[in-house]
Amino acid sequence: MLKGVGASSGIGIGTIVCIREESLDYSKVVFQGEAEEKARLKEAVDTFCEVTQEMAEDIRQRVGEKESEILSGQIMMLSDPFMTGQMEEMIASGSCAEAALDSVCQMYIEMFSNVDDELMRQRATDIRDIRTRMLRLLLGISSVDIASVPAGTVLAAKDLTPSMTVGLKKENISAILTEIGGKTSHSAILARALEIPAVLGIPQVLDQVSDGQQAIVDGESGEVILSPDEDTLKRYTAQWKEQQEQKAMLSVYRDRKTQDADGRNYELYSNIGSVAEAQIALENGAEGIGLFRTEFLFMDRTAMPTEQEQYEAYKAVSDIMQGKEVIIRTLDVGGDKEISYLKMESEQNPFLGWRAIRYCLEESDLFKVQLRALLRAGAEHKNIKIMLPLVTGVQEIRAAKQLLEECKQELAAQGIAYDDNIQVGIMIETPAAALIADLLAKEAAFFSIGTNDLTQYTLAVDRGNAKVENLYTTLHPAVLRSIRSIIRAAKEAKIPVGMCGEAAADPALIPLLLEFGLDEMSVSASSILKTRKIVSQWSQKETAEVEQKAMQLDEPQAVEEYLLSVCKR
Ligand code: PEP
Ligand code: MG
Repeated sequence: MLKGVGASSGIGIGTIVCIREESLDYSKVVFQGEAEEKARLKEAVDTFCEVTQEMAEDIRQRVGEKESEILSGQIMMLSDPFMTGQMEEMIASGSCAEAALDSVCQMYIEMFSNVDDELMRQRATDIRDIRTRMLRLLLGISSVDIASVPAGTVLAAKDLTPSMTVGLKKENISAILTEIGGKTSHSAILARALEIPAVLGIPQVLDQVSDGQQAIVDGESGEVILSPDEDTLKRYTAQWKEQQEQKAMLSVYRDRKTQDADGRNYELYSNIGSVAEAQIALENGAEGIGLFRTEFLFMDRTAMPTEQEQYEAYKAVSDIMQGKEVIIRTLDVGGDKEISYLKMESEQNPFLGWRAIRYCLEESDLFKVQLRALLRAGAEHKNIKIMLPLVTGVQEIRAAKQLLEECKQELAAQGIAYDDNIQVGIMIETPAAALIADLLAKEAAFFSIGTNDLTQYTLAVDRGNAKVENLYTTLHPAVLRSIRSIIRAAKEAKIPVGMCGEAAADPALIPLLLEFGLDEMSVSASSILKTRKIVSQWSQKETAEVEQKAMQLDEPQAVEEYLLSVCKR
């Protein structure tokens, strides 16, 4: 068995086809004079751009704008006169076109590979791709045609380069295995967009598999079973079949409203951690974004993203969602989310320490950069809402709003457009917030219940500690009562209330949420259709009955058993 990062969920079963790099050795190429080599280089660049343009167009139609931009980006890089100029200089000093191209590309690959920023490192993948394809063109080597691999192929490659992805058709590719890449790499995003199971980051994958070998790929756990025995194959085939049937059945819910059996409407939003995920959420039928975890923009870098970088990310999500609501949470650093360059000292109890809104209010310069970016990003579509994490008191909302006012004044003085009416809501994820929800509702434009933390703090059970995992349950009577009273407080104050913790997609909890009167549920993109289906099956009469019974039970296990016994799937 091989193990890597489960980057695109689902079971894939098929036959391995290895994509190995051909020899691109050009040591025997003879320099034919400056003019001739420059002409060969130019011809190859022109062909590269032409072919890549066609690929970009094809992928734009089949997959999406974002994925096609990766290829357009390559055309831009290679047509940059600075880059080609460097190659021509080398040719002028006696290098053949292949050598000139190779050394310039290698220089950039090295430069981009050695930075901490994941996006920058992605540039190295792009240039590697440019180098390989350009060398193939110059040397006249034909490339592997992924588009024509047989159905049921499990593709194994060192890296899934952007140009290779153009041939990926989900009808033919059962799964993808690579050595390079993580959850946020382009290949992961694309695999998820195409719903192809993928396990990335498998060390030396090409040395461990061979063409024609059978493989079972679990894109969730990151496990790959090679040459499975008959029993294992049977088991996974049954699992695969069930997944396919479910997918086909769920697709009818993509363009439907989120309504229960009596026609009561709810909003079904998606949680995201990046711009690319917004596109995936929209394609999965999200009616809005209920939680954009912005801390992911701050991670895997050596310095904080600038106001402009943040603005571009928030604006891109605002654009993608086409006027639908986008709730963006301000930096939720601390707890288990470390950002090395912010130099936060380690604490005895990080979950009870200097985190989230507490950190931002003290580090107000950093916070204001984010607030300004959010205000600006909301200027055009006015669909952005700001959400504050880990609120425990009214004073925190007031202080944040005060900073927001300062940002507005600064932007106005600079003549920069912003959304003057941007709404500020809060996450209810601490017992303090739950207990004073009535007071908070006077300051907050909306609530979103963060059950991941609310459960941890209410039950005093560390959400990341495997030792007490059995005690961590949102179905505990204390948590359920807390959720009910938060929703009641919001209803009384007439402000919308949603839920963005994982529990929002828990089939067992859904009837209670509907009965309590939750307005919006925000779940991961892959849970949207299933959640919409479950909501559609519950009638008001049934949810009332479930609430009646469930809220009388006094032990978490009894609640769980009862809710599981009545839950719909
Ligand atoms: C939560 O606590 O429920 C939540 C949605 O936030 P996070 O999981 O990012 O802490
Ligand atoms: Mg939280």
